[in-house]
Amino acid sequence: MNEYDSDRIYDIAKNINYKKTNNLSEADCYVLNTCHIREKATEKVYHDIGRVKKEFRNKKKPIIVVTGCVAQAEGDILLKKEKYIDAVIGPQSYHLFNSTLLKLEKESNKINFTEFDVIEKFDNLNRFKNSSSSVSSYLTIQEGCDKFCKFCVVPYTRGAEFSRSVKELFKECKELVENGTSEITLLGQNVNAYNYEGKRLSDLIFEISKIENLKRIRYTTSHPIDFSKDLIDIHRTSKKLMPLIHLPVQSGSDNILRNMNRKHDIHYYLDLISELKKSNPLIEFSSDFIIGYPGETDKDFDASYELLKKVGYINTYSFIFSPRLGTPAAEMKKIDNKIAKKRLEIFQREAERIKMKYRKKLFNKKSTILFENRSSRKKDEFFGRDEYLNSVIVKSNENLKGKIKDVTITNGNQNTLFGEIISNSEKKDFAA
Ligand code: SAM
Ligand code: SF4
Repeated sequence: MNEYDSDRIYDIAKNINYKKTNNLSEADCYVLNTCHIREKATEKVYHDIGRVKKEFRNKKKPIIVVTGCVAQAEGDILLKKEKYIDAVIGPQSYHLFNSTLLKLEKESNKINFTEFDVIEKFDNLNRFKNSSSSVSSYLTIQEGCDKFCKFCVVPYTRGAEFSRSVKELFKECKELVENGTSEITLLGQNVNAYNYEGKRLSDLIFEISKIENLKRIRYTTSHPIDFSKDLIDIHRTSKKLMPLIHLPVQSGSDNILRNMNRKHDIHYYLDLISELKKSNPLIEFSSDFIIGYPGETDKDFDASYELLKKVGYINTYSFIFSPRLGTPAAEMKKIDNKIAKKRLEIFQREAERIKMKYRKKLFNKKSTILFENRSSRKKDEFFGRDEYLNSVIVKSNENLKGKIKDVTITNGNQNTLFGEIISNSEKKDFAA
């Protein structure tokens, strides 16, 4: 979501003649877009600003703006502690970006915009064309969260659930496709809670599928309790919707799920997986796990480990519990860090083994790849992704960027698969 937000911030700033630069030393303005989901986020801000300070020693300093959830959660503290920062702008106030910059160009008063006005934000952002021209682009359709899992800062930093209108999303999708996008990932902290005047995520997917040159649709991140029947069904009927579902579970133990306030148990979660598989047997799953949550016993951890093996996730993101100030779990008694680290190591080793076993099954088989870029190191190599988001590299003298081709996977490792193009395999037509 921060990638999408960063692009939109740039779309806004372009209107007052700011341009992107890869050369830090020539920047007039430095925007640090931050994430607050796990610890060290604030330290990273100070560290990064230290780097800018060093670069601009004995030179006129650039305007420094901190955006994102660290700005939202710790705005005043940041401004007080690091005088080099000129403004903090929370995620719901990006539409005030240009007026902030124009003010700061003239005077050096500190500015803090961390109000929650998500309707005003999107009403204003809609005025700025989305200029992303990537083959694969993100599109935020929903923000915020009403679930209040006990470990999570999102409800406090991104506010209550809000869904953008189908009409404005269709328009933004079309703009992206006209700029060269072939794949769109619909984003939301709880993307399947999307609900605009009764229109649900499946309705939105159905609508945007009508855009001819849009070839692939994905969505992330889903909460298990928001998987409605229509969403399960559209995985059977839509040819554009990719068969990988990111379905965070956090823990395999009912006790821990209850203590996290996740609102479902493992029985429900496994039933949902089997319903989705029934709808489309090609679906694979990825997930998030929190290891070492307060109160996690060996038995609770074993339940997470067993779930990992049972579902056979093709990808997992696992992290040690990180207490976030202001959340209920931050007040709970932490488990021994050494134990948590050991559990994470055991968990990740098994997750990698499962992932590699799955990847080996792809060798010598056909995959369909959407190519995103030419390799920056080797001119005759192209990078793309298969339907399950696996990264694939092939050699080709033809420019493959934006094309969809069938590829035979020849080999690969944990991060990348390598393949060869099956000749004359370009995919042209997709039915909605
Ligand atoms: N809404 C999604 C859901 O309910 O599954 C997840 C969105 S959250 C922004 C992304 C992931 O960050 C979570 O799935 C969780 O695993 C991880 N996360 C959030 N808070 C955390 C914390 N305090 N410590 C460790 N991991 C955390
Ligand atoms: Fe955070 Fe997701 Fe829980 Fe919302 S549902 S509080 S975003 S983990």
